[in-house]
Amino acid sequence: MRKVLRITWLDACAKCGFSDYADVTTEHGIGCYLWNGDKVECPNCHHTGEIECEDGTAFVNWEEVLPESVVQTLKEVS
Ligand SMILES: [Zn+2]
Repeated sequence: MRKVLRITWLDACAKCGFSDYADVTTEHGIGCYLWNGDKVECPNCHHTGEIECEDGTAFVNWEEVLPESVVQTLKEVS
């Protein structure tokens, strides 16, 4: 069952620096555990990332933040 957890102890958003909490969408829905590949979204700027787990510790791997110039170039290409 999919559910959204509000996690307060993840790293601050790589894009806007918001660090109060992040919304994590988990497919497993067991208590407050996080899993590899769970989707993370910053509630402030909607930047996304994924959960990674290592040695029993979960952390967020935010998507790389592209400089505005690169984003612009990508838009022009597509
Ligand atoms: Zn953000």
